[in-house]
Amino acid sequence: MNKLDEQIATLQKYIDESKRIVFFGGAGVSTESGIPDFRSASGIFTNDLSASQIVSHDYFFYNPSEFYKFYKEKMMYLDAKPNNCHNKLADLETAGKNITIITQNIDGLHQAAGSKKVLELHGSIHRNYCLDCQKAFDAEFVYNSKGVPLCDKCGGIIKPDVVLYGEPLHEETINQAIYALKNADLLIVGGTSLNVYPAASFIHYFSGTKKVYINMENKQLGEDFLFIESKIGEVFSKIKTK
Ligand code: NAD
Ligand code: ZN
Repeated sequence: MNKLDEQIATLQKYIDESKRIVFFGGAGVSTESGIPDFRSASGIFTNDLSASQIVSHDYFFYNPSEFYKFYKEKMMYLDAKPNNCHNKLADLETAGKNITIITQNIDGLHQAAGSKKVLELHGSIHRNYCLDCQKAFDAEFVYNSKGVPLCDKCGGIIKPDVVLYGEPLHEETINQAIYALKNADLLIVGGTSLNVYPAASFIHYFSGTKKVYINMENKQLGEDFLFIESKIGEVFSKIKTK
């Protein structure tokens, strides 16, 4: 058995023997679905601003037209399909595993795969609301609007339910994430550089001993993590649901 197969066998053993699993993921979970991670999307786009400056609360209100230009092009991948990682996590839940997904992604692919217990720390492109009358709109409506999407009922500006830089995370989601982490006996972290706070800090609420980190680059989470340096979809394609 090569090193990778041995590591996957250990991950399989951990999954099989655990009662409550938390999967904590980021943009790297969706790159195999064709959605670029933050690194690739963060190149200078316009007016010498970085992605984090454009996708911010202040910029949304300062220049909604430029905000939406970037957002639609770089963050709305409506044709993306779940990959082996999303699908296997959903299969594990269907097979009876108690598994909570805490994601920093906003693409909705875990739900598209069929996962039910998904905590979206940064919201979702699939929920959008009129700032004036709160009418809800789907992602297609937003994407297909010319320029800034406006409410078809009152004309107000539509804002995605996405946590923009400078905005707080939803308190209820934080509480549920902390609860799941505190009560889990296996933590799998994957496809995240753990650079975005406060999201990245939540994994410290996990107090169990079984920790796995699946990522293409080693962010040195510590010796207590089993680090699997590989594509996350390929790793999960080898996991059996039993
Ligand atoms: P990040 O871009 O900072 O880091 C992604 C990590 O995943 C990197 O370390 C990279 O090496 C790794 N990676 C990439 N593809 C991988 C693969 N196939 N298998 C294993 N590892 C892989 O992402 P982040 O930590 O999630 O932070 C980015 C922020 O931007 C988040 O807050 C997120 O909300 C947002 N974002 C979301 C999406 C999305 O919804 N799909 C996409 C881009 C950015
Ligand atoms: Zn309205």
